[in-house]
Amino acid sequence: MPADFHSFATELLGWYRRHARSLPWRLPPGSAAPPDPYAVWLSEIMLQQTTVAAAGPYFSRFLARWPSVRDLAAAPREDVLAAWAGLGYYSRARNLHAAARHVAEAFGGVFPSTEEGLRALPGVGPYTAAAIAAIAFGERAAVVDANVERVAARLFAVETPLPAAKPEIREKVGLLTPAAAPGDFAQAMMDLGALVCSPKRPQCAACPVAAYCEGRARGIAESLPRFAPKKARATRRAVAFLCLRSDGAVLLRRRPDKGLLGGMLEVPSSPWAEGALDLEAALAHAPLRARWRARAGLVTHTFTHFRLELAVYEGRPGASAIGEADGLWVAPSDLATVGLPTVMRKVTALVEPAPGPLFAAGSAGR
Ligand code: SF4
Repeated sequence: MPADFHSFATELLGWYRRHARSLPWRLPPGSAAPPDPYAVWLSEIMLQQTTVAAAGPYFSRFLARWPSVRDLAAAPREDVLAAWAGLGYYSRARNLHAAARHVAEAFGGVFPSTEEGLRALPGVGPYTAAAIAAIAFGERAAVVDANVERVAARLFAVETPLPAAKPEIREKVGLLTPAAAPGDFAQAMMDLGALVCSPKRPQCAACPVAAYCEGRARGIAESLPRFAPKKARATRRAVAFLCLRSDGAVLLRRRPDKGLLGGMLEVPSSPWAEGALDLEAALAHAPLRARWRARAGLVTHTFTHFRLELAVYEGRPGASAIGEADGLWVAPSDLATVGLPTVMRKVTALVEPAPGPLFAAGSAGR
């Protein structure tokens, strides 16, 4: 790629002004009004590991319910976790609430305006800090999400496989990023990746920066970026206990704060362990005495690092056993709104009268 980074940015920004995607958290390119840092931060947290399509409705609901960072900070954490249910990666919701409290209490409701200051907030890593700093505060920061990574790998014909190529790609994006309008530039790169420079069959004939693209010139663009081979996902197995009271209520409990799905409600289950399911050992983790009967089929769910298989056992405890369990009893009609994560919605769908939609987090990138 020729080192004329200035004209590259000019061409790309011109294209962005004509073709920018309309997104719920985004101001049109060149807007006179400054972006709301709270909305930018909220959207960037939601977009971590999640597609635009999945994050959009959550963003709109959160902003309507908690219009400012102070409103979010004042909300009970359980409400925030419940509103997040279905979006996945639940540590984000816990960190979101902790960061809102920190901004409200330590900074009087005003977000830090630099990449470095933003990094100090819970849940804000290098990418998110760069994106907020560029988009909300106009800082010249290198913003590299999955789309930008692909575009840059092709523009510079980076053949080193990911993730080893990340530092090199970040450095190249830093070189490309202009001092003027770095937020629009970052979003233009994202949109180019989403609309033109797609993972398969990039539309190079319609690309506004095709003249700068080394990957295209060398005929290798479509094969980039390269990836190191992925490790196979392990499978964990467990028994989920679908415990039904005589009035139809279902027993739920809250998971510990730390760890996967931390702080979220769940259907009680045995420990999630790799290898074949030891049924006898798993059934010993039943939350109370009942006759446990297997339901047909398995509930499966894929997390980032493993796949989960749940054998669902249903039990209807007698009155004398009801008090043995820790947790709360939830009517079937409330299961869709109580804030269960997607994997648990799959289990309770076995008893819900009218299951609501299962919102699924998608892969990274926008
Ligand atoms: Fe992507 Fe093709 Fe444009 Fe290169 S020319 S940036 S490969 S769309």
